Amino acid sequence: MAVRIVGHGEQDVRRVTCERCHAVLEFAKSDVLVEPQYDDAGEYAGERRWIDCPKCNSQVEIAT
Ligand SMILES: [Zn+2]
Repeated sequence: MAVRIVGHGEQDVRRVTCERCHAVLEFAKSDVLVEPQYDDAGEYAGERRWIDCPKCNSQVEIAT
């Protein structure tokens, strides 16, 4: 097998499978969208992280 270049300075490249269309998506930290979440009482409840699937446009949740 030959050496392959898989990125330029991108760290922590990960893969996730879109649950809707089953596309395997490769993403870096900089691709992840982050939004704060609040519970019913309005208390901060952590962050929601996701990427947009380029195939079906659904939001794929990313586990932290
Ligand atoms: Zn998809």
